[in-house]
Amino acid sequence: MKPPYPMHLDPTAEVAPRERRVYFEVFGCQMNKLDSELMLESLAARGYQLTHDPAEASVILYNTCSVREHAEERAIMRLQTFRERKEREPDLVLALLGCVAQHKEAELLERMPYLDLIVGTREFDQLPSLIDEAREASEPRLATEMDSPLVFQRRRNLGPQPWHAYVSVMRGCDMVCTYCIVPTTRGKEVSRPPEVILDEIERLAGDGVREVTLLGQTVNSYGKRLGAGVGLDTLLRGIEEIDGIERVRFITSHPRFMRPKLIEAMAECTKVTDYLHLPVQSGSDTMLARMKRTYDRAFYLKTIDRLRERIPGLHLATDFIVGFPGETDAEFEESLSLVHEVDFDHGYVFQYSPRPGTPSHALVDDVPRAEKKARNHALLRALEENGRRRNLDWVGRRVEVLVEGVSKLDPNRMAGRARDFRMVVFPRAPEDRPGCFVEVEVEETTAGTLVGRRIGPPSPDPIHPRRASADPGEVPGTPVEV
Ligand code: SF4
Repeated sequence: MKPPYPMHLDPTAEVAPRERRVYFEVFGCQMNKLDSELMLESLAARGYQLTHDPAEASVILYNTCSVREHAEERAIMRLQTFRERKEREPDLVLALLGCVAQHKEAELLERMPYLDLIVGTREFDQLPSLIDEAREASEPRLATEMDSPLVFQRRRNLGPQPWHAYVSVMRGCDMVCTYCIVPTTRGKEVSRPPEVILDEIERLAGDGVREVTLLGQTVNSYGKRLGAGVGLDTLLRGIEEIDGIERVRFITSHPRFMRPKLIEAMAECTKVTDYLHLPVQSGSDTMLARMKRTYDRAFYLKTIDRLRERIPGLHLATDFIVGFPGETDAEFEESLSLVHEVDFDHGYVFQYSPRPGTPSHALVDDVPRAEKKARNHALLRALEENGRRRNLDWVGRRVEVLVEGVSKLDPNRMAGRARDFRMVVFPRAPEDRPGCFVEVEVEETTAGTLVGRRIGPPSPDPIHPRRASADPGEVPGTPVEV
C-alpha cells in the first residue's frame, strides 16, 4: 500500500527492528507534506524507518488537513481501521497529527479514545520524544500548545523528488479570511531568519536539489517582525547566489503583499521562475469584502498589470471560491468576467463548505449544492478555455524542461515542467532521469500540457546517492499523471 504522499524509502538501508518502523499518511497542502518530511527526519535521527506497509509498522501516523471536511473525515476513518489491531497489539502507537489535531482535540478523544498521541501544528518537532512518552503513558498524550516555539533544522530532503525540495520560510497567518481555518490551526505568522533558510537551501543544493519551492501561508508577507528591509525579495536575491539551485518558486502569495520590491526581485533574479499563483477567490468587491480578503477587484487588476509589465511571460494561476454565503448570480458573473479580464493561464475552483471554527460558519450556507456545482463547472470551463488558448502561443517555441518522470499515460514519453511551470510531454530517451534538463520544441498543446519533440540529449544526471542503487534500465521515481 502506498501512502498519499510517498516519502523516500532508502532501498539500501538495513531493515530496522519492528518497534522502530513507522507508517505515515499525509493529507492536505504542501506545508503538511513538508512538516511530514521534517517529522520523518527527526524520527530517522532516532533510528526510526519509514515503511509503506502499515502491517510492518509499530507506529502509525496520520498528518491531517482541516481545510475541507472530506479530507478531515478521510484521515479519521483511515485511522479508525486500526482499532481492532490496537486492541490486539497494545504496543502499537496510533497518532493523529496536524491541523485536525490542533482544533478538534476533544472531539477526537471522544471518537477515538484508543488514540495514543495527538500532536498539533506547533509541536511536531518533538515527535520522537512524544512517541516515547505515549508508549509509557496510560492515557493519550496531547501536544497541542499554540505558544510552543517550533524549532527545526532540516538536514536532508526526504520528499518524493530528490531534485526538488519544499522549504518553509514562515508559518501561520495574520490574515482573517472569514472562510479559513488556518489562523486557528497554525497560529500567528512567524518568519524564519533568512540566514537559516539560505543555509538550509545551500545544504539541499549540495544534496542534488535543483529546484526549491518556498512555502508560507502568505509567503509574500515573509519577513514581518524580522526587522526593516527583510522580505521575500531578500530570500530570492540570496538564492540567486547559491550554486546548484537552478529554479525557485514560492507559494502561496496574497495579493495584498505583491509589493514593488518583490516584483523587481522576481524580474531581476534569473532563477525565479515565471510562475505565480495568486489566489483571487472572487471577482466581486462585495464578495471580497464579505470574505475579508482586504483588497478589491481594481487592486488585484492593478497588481497584475504591474507584474506583467515587469515579467511579460508570467504564467498566472489563481484560486476561486464559489457559493460563499450570499453569493448572487451577479456576483458570480463578476468572477467569470475576471477570468477573461485577467486572462489567467490556470486556476482552481473550490465549492464553499462551512468549516467549524471559522467566522463564516455562523453565516447561512444558502447557495444550493447544485448551484455551487454549476458555478464550479462554468468557472472551470472558462479557465480551461483560457489556458488552452494561451498554451497555443507556445507552439513552435523551445522550452527548457526539468524532467519529473515517465508519463503515466504513455511510458514511451517523459514529462516535466517548463520554467513557467507548464507541464511538458516529450519522447523518452534511455538516458533521461528525473532532475535532468531537456530542451523541447513545442508542437501541439492542450488546456494543461505542451507536447513536443526533444532537441538533443538530457543534461547530466544530478549526483544523488539514492540513484546509485537504481536499475539503469528503469527510470527512478513515480510516473507523472499526464
Ligand atoms: S490568507 Fe486567508 S486564506 Fe490564506 S491562510 Fe491566511 S486566512 Fe487562510
